[in-house]
Amino acid sequence: MDQIGFIGLGNMGRPMASNLCRKGNRLIVHDVNRTPVQALTQLGAESANDVVAVAAKSDVLFTMLPDSAAVEDVIGSALPHMRRGTVIVDMSTVDPRTTDRLASAAQARGVAFADAPVGRLASHAERGESLFMVGADDATFARVKPLLEAMGTTIHHCGAVGTGMRTKLVNNYLAIISCQLNAEAIALSQRFGLSLEKTLDVIHGTTATNGQLKIAWPSKVLKGDIAPGFTIDLAHKDLSLIVEAANAVKVPVPIASVAREAYSSARAHGHGAKDFSAMVDVLCENAGIEKPRLLSS
Ligand code: NAD
Repeated sequence: MDQIGFIGLGNMGRPMASNLCRKGNRLIVHDVNRTPVQALTQLGAESANDVVAVAAKSDVLFTMLPDSAAVEDVIGSALPHMRRGTVIVDMSTVDPRTTDRLASAAQARGVAFADAPVGRLASHAERGESLFMVGADDATFARVKPLLEAMGTTIHHCGAVGTGMRTKLVNNYLAIISCQLNAEAIALSQRFGLSLEKTLDVIHGTTATNGQLKIAWPSKVLKGDIAPGFTIDLAHKDLSLIVEAANAVKVPVPIASVAREAYSSARAHGHGAKDFSAMVDVLCENAGIEKPRLLSS
């Protein structure tokens, strides 16, 4: 049986690694925060004090880290200690150019690389129902697919290395700007004095709705739960990645730029650690409108 390494046990990584453990895989885990490491050891995982100890033992190394800098740092430290024929699977959302660079560095050392960023919410990750967008050659995809199936229900092979990450940026562009659009529309409905329930009833029956409004918000901000989930800080990071990656290939993305600054302003006012659905609370607070909550919440 392969020895699985897992680095980054945050809102997503902890439940995903837990599902790998529960399904009988041998795990060695590391995070700079010891609390989730302890949760994993209770499920039978081995804990490691540093990246090198995980890298040296892993046949397949998963990373689920916040941003490009953390991924460069961790994979940069891991790579010299990995054996030929092993695999790195980065599931974080990062700059696709970082993915391309790390994949080349891995290949040069005889280590295979897959980018497998994750769609859907932290609640899906808890239930083992994540969606993966995988960039990898066919052999690497075939090798990692059963492990991804232990964490998710939908595994897409998007193409060669880097295509998973680029697909993820396209996906998150829509998800994150939808959240800002919803915030503006719902704040307006509140200012108009409309019933939140009736407004949602109407919107969900037309082409105006979206997954954030229909699936995510009723169980998050609209019932008063603003614990992440996916933070405003991470949404801001992703919109920055999207603006930069689009500009690098000469695609203008004016809506993404404006939305990014709305998230930037929320962060500057101390809301960065809240779930990104709380963008509607931030907007309502700024406009002096009561926060929208469903009557049943
Ligand atoms: P998080 O901030 O909750 O978790 C990141 C974890 O990485 C933390 O536990 C942190 O301590 C650890 N970490 C940071 N630097 C480290 C280092 N150098 N060495 C070891 N551990 C380190 O973030 P998250 O919400 O779990 O998201 C992780 C990634 O997945 C991000 O790139 C995010 O954009 C993406 N993502 C998140 C969601 C979501 O709903 N939360 C959904 C899909 C994708």
